[in-house]
Amino acid sequence: MTRVKKETKNEVRKPKKRLKQIQAIKGMNDILPTDQLVWDYVLDHARKLCTELGFGRISTPILEKTELFQRGVGNITDIVEKEMFSFETKGGDDVSMRPEGTAGVVRAYVENGMSKWPQPVKLFYEGPMFRYEKPQAGRYRQFYQFGFEIIGDNCPAIDAQVIYLAWKILQKSEINDTIIQLNSIGCSECRLAYKKMLVDYYEMKINKLCHDCKRRLDENPLRLLDCKEEKCTQVSFSAPQIIDHLCEPCHDHFKNVLEFLDELEIPYVLNSNLVRGLDYYTQTVFEIWECDSEGNQNSLGGGGRYDNMIKLMGGEDAPAIGFSFGIERVVESIQRKGIKINKRIKKDVFLVQLGNLARKKILRIFDKLIDCDIAVGESLGRGSIKSQLRLANKTNSKLALIVGQKEALDDTVIIRDMESGMQEVVTLQDIVEEVQKRLRN
Ligand code: AMP
Repeated sequence: MTRVKKETKNEVRKPKKRLKQIQAIKGMNDILPTDQLVWDYVLDHARKLCTELGFGRISTPILEKTELFQRGVGNITDIVEKEMFSFETKGGDDVSMRPEGTAGVVRAYVENGMSKWPQPVKLFYEGPMFRYEKPQAGRYRQFYQFGFEIIGDNCPAIDAQVIYLAWKILQKSEINDTIIQLNSIGCSECRLAYKKMLVDYYEMKINKLCHDCKRRLDENPLRLLDCKEEKCTQVSFSAPQIIDHLCEPCHDHFKNVLEFLDELEIPYVLNSNLVRGLDYYTQTVFEIWECDSEGNQNSLGGGGRYDNMIKLMGGEDAPAIGFSFGIERVVESIQRKGIKINKRIKKDVFLVQLGNLARKKILRIFDKLIDCDIAVGESLGRGSIKSQLRLANKTNSKLALIVGQKEALDDTVIIRDMESGMQEVVTLQDIVEEVQKRLRN
């Protein structure tokens, strides 16, 4: 027998110094179980609606070649210029952690020959995105998006369908104070003429622009329209509006989109300064803004048409449109509004035990119940029956199965109805059948 050496007074151990904590990277957050309930609530609505409307789920890798985003999103965009987590692999490849979902989905569409599938191809995705932005409320370096794309159809009704779906997902999640901000940025042809007009306009006011806008004027003049600097917004107020300079097909397309939205009674406002930060958009662009009681606006998601991108990625020319929302922003909105979600963890059965032999019997019952798809709760580490029954109550369990020392020796189990408090003794052998009978009632 090994002897346990008792500590004498002189041998009392000195408390060890605690090791320094390791904290999560700035702008990258844990999502804890209580928050996950709200995440599931949002994602369940989003997945259900997408599936009902014929979208198939796609998952693409987090890491892609940097060139994909340079070509897809555009070199002169904030995302590619400043915000990507990029590095060289051990094998010498330049890769980036995806900052958004569309470029990867388009790559997958081309690479997997989806142009041969019945068109349009409707896909949805969800997952983490990475942008090296200044972390603040609602803006993180790792955040999650839920998005969907329709590739292979340029009918304006498809634009309306995508806007409808984005709006409906939020409605189903009980976010009702949203408004759709809508614009058309035309096709490459009418945009070219408009860009020239815009450059002429801003050049006359160059001294009133911020440093970034002066630089962007030659490279990406559209971005000046959505600069948030006060002095630039003043100048943009009187800038020519693209809506007045669309070519005839773009004009007709947009007019049809608006008519379909009116038909669906979806609330929208036209916002001629909405250009979106990514290069790939053509024609319809939109964002969903939430407006709080103080008039603050918060963009929950955004999207638009990107008719040139499939070709740009080496595929056959195909029109496309998509949308994505930031899951954190939607979750935070639900939490701010105090929307009630059924948070009670429901168990069918809670297992209560006393002593080691009872624990062994309980483990066997646990396995049998799980095999029959019965939701089981337990607290194997706890000793007192009272504290275990308290937990059974907390988890809203319908039944408690109690195995004390006597029952463990007899191979019996006490079944307690948690609502009425009625108890019955049944044999261990019949336990699953007896539980199923009571759950059915
Ligand atoms: P974007 O891809 O920039 O059009 O963004 C679409 C949506 O993703 C936004 O409306 C936000 O809800 C969300 N989003 C974008 N960037 C971030 C970020 N850094 N942190 C949290 N959510 C974001």
